Amino acid sequence: MENNVSREKNIMKIRLPIRIAGFAVLSFIISLSVIIYLRVELGLLKTQYVKIVEEYYPSLESVDTISRCVYSHQALVFHYMLNAEDVDKDEFYERIDGIEKTIFEELKKTNKSTKGTILEEYSHDVSADINAYFSNVDMALEFYEDGDEKTAIYYVEETLKNEVQTLNIDVEELNNLVNVNVREIRTNMRRILKMEEEVIVVAIIILMLSLIFSLIFCLKMSSDAVDRDNLTKVYNFDKLLEVCKKYLKKGKIEKYNIIAMSIKDFKLINQEYGSQNGDNVLKAYAALIASFVSKNEIVARNGADNFFVLKEKETTEEFLNKVLELRVHVIGDLEIPVFTRCGVCAFSTKYTIQDHISAALLSLEDARKSKHKDVFYFTDEDRQRVLKEREYIASFEQALHNEQFHVYYQPKVDLETNKIVGAEALVRWVIDGKVIPPFDFIPILERENKITKLDFYVFDKACQKIRDWLDRGIKPVRISTNFSKEHLSNENLAKELMAIVEKYDIPSRYIEVEITESSAYGSYDELARFVDEMKEHKIYVAMDDFGTAYSSLSMLMEIDMDVIKLDRSFLMRTGEGKLKDKKNRRMIEDILKMLHDLDKIVICEGVETQENVDFLKSIGCRFAQGYLFDKPIPEDEFIDKWLNNR
Ligand code: C2E
Ligand code: MG
Ligand code: MG
Repeated sequence: MENNVSREKNIMKIRLPIRIAGFAVLSFIISLSVIIYLRVELGLLKTQYVKIVEEYYPSLESVDTISRCVYSHQALVFHYMLNAEDVDKDEFYERIDGIEKTIFEELKKTNKSTKGTILEEYSHDVSADINAYFSNVDMALEFYEDGDEKTAIYYVEETLKNEVQTLNIDVEELNNLVNVNVREIRTNMRRILKMEEEVIVVAIIILMLSLIFSLIFCLKMSSDAVDRDNLTKVYNFDKLLEVCKKYLKKGKIEKYNIIAMSIKDFKLINQEYGSQNGDNVLKAYAALIASFVSKNEIVARNGADNFFVLKEKETTEEFLNKVLELRVHVIGDLEIPVFTRCGVCAFSTKYTIQDHISAALLSLEDARKSKHKDVFYFTDEDRQRVLKEREYIASFEQALHNEQFHVYYQPKVDLETNKIVGAEALVRWVIDGKVIPPFDFIPILERENKITKLDFYVFDKACQKIRDWLDRGIKPVRISTNFSKEHLSNENLAKELMAIVEKYDIPSRYIEVEITESSAYGSYDELARFVDEMKEHKIYVAMDDFGTAYSSLSMLMEIDMDVIKLDRSFLMRTGEGKLKDKKNRRMIEDILKMLHDLDKIVICEGVETQENVDFLKSIGCRFAQGYLFDKPIPEDEFIDKWLNNR
């Protein structure tokens, strides 16, 4: 299904530019065809035009010459008849013959050039007019030569006048016809040229529009690529922020929830199936999530398996149901189950976008820690918690300076003698007389990278107290202090610790460092180096909370710790009525045996009952720490109850 979704998206992406290009090519071909058609039309008109110019115009010229010759002829005839006594007859006839010859030659030309054309009929008319004119002139001259001067003159004046008029009319019509034809062709040519211009303009507009569309599309595609996560192709975190800001500006952000999502134990998927398959899971998962949201909503990835969804409040429930039912299938038969955890925060305009995102992440953290629920909504209580945390962060430095951090001591007891063998220094934050337990602020300080400062402070205070006890003649016990794993990246950790030890001149047998066992170590190199350095100074290092992480055994094998503190969760699984009590007891016994075989000093944490003590004794565990003996208590109390009471 996820493949279909992404394939469809890809096809959509390819289809649009292909359509635009196809449209541009099609309109280009159509325009070109129209232009070619118009060019052919224009060519035909041009030929027609040339033909008219070449053929009709000479005829017109001939007709014009004929018309002028007829006028001269007519004038000569009049002149001769009116002034015969002064005119040389031979010369007259010679001139008349000359003009007639020209007329007939021109007539012949006209008849020839107009043959088969629309002018043919008119040139015949002109010929007929000329012939009629000449026969009338001949008749008039005959009357004249016969001495009937009056009839001759009359003939010339009346009859000839009519013939010449007819001739003139015909010549005029011929002229008009040619001109109309020429004008019509010219108009057509102009029309075609105009049409051609229009087609070219339309074609250019279409091409330009296609180009602009393609350009916009390409720009959109490239800007889209900038907004997308490389691996999964859903949006990236920056785009999510941009959309949130936009909705906030438009006043519609309160319609939405921000959902922080992650895949349960994604690290394990990577370890078990390989990172390539891990990537495939992420891709398939992202595509599925993206198919559950609508156009105005957005799915974004913020590295690894961290996703955010901006989802309308109304449809969030439905969305979460789908997401929680998700199972992802990857490559062929390999089916990798995927379970989601979500933290949901409803947007309101009272807080910043970043506040809401942090809130969703906090709720996701709650979901991660929970064994029963996969979705957590950010509540008002959570908001109070966040405000408190902010307060802690803001006041930490000042609190350190004002010595608001107090060190409490919890004894470690030898079960055989019931005597104190050591104590753990545990920090308390005292604000206005109220004692804040470490679980409330240590995780925050760890997150804010402030924990190392506090650890050094506690270590310094513990050393200061040991020195004080020594100076006061109170025999100290070995005091262990907790060091967060954040210290291990500090190459000078051992040196810095030793500087404090030397400052107070404390014998190394009174010092122990506890480091929490954790699956979060990339490699044990740094820890191993630190333990070795401490060994050189004869200072014990203890592995705290042993058994709570995945890597307990490998850590044990790679690092030569002196003391192992069994986490109190082991004891919590024993006791009457506890599920698998017998098996758990057996397991603790075996672990203890193994640790003794490895020459480790083992201390069991969380001893709360005599039953716990009896059990531990029965399996040979010698050292214990727990409320049964004492809670962590202030220094004065610790001195009175434990150091001065041995
Ligand atoms: P931890 O180092 O494992 O310390 C033991 C915790 O278990 C202490 O809690 C102690 O009060 C509690 N505990 C001891 N016996 C019993 C018992 O019988 N039953 C129960 N339910 N709890 C018992 P606390 O003092 O609240 O400290 C909690 C954690 O905070 C410590 O766990 C340690 O990881 C951390 N922590 C305390 N002080 C410091 C410090 O100065 N630096 C660092 N980095 N972490 C510290
Ligand atoms: Mg501890
Ligand atoms: Mg512990």
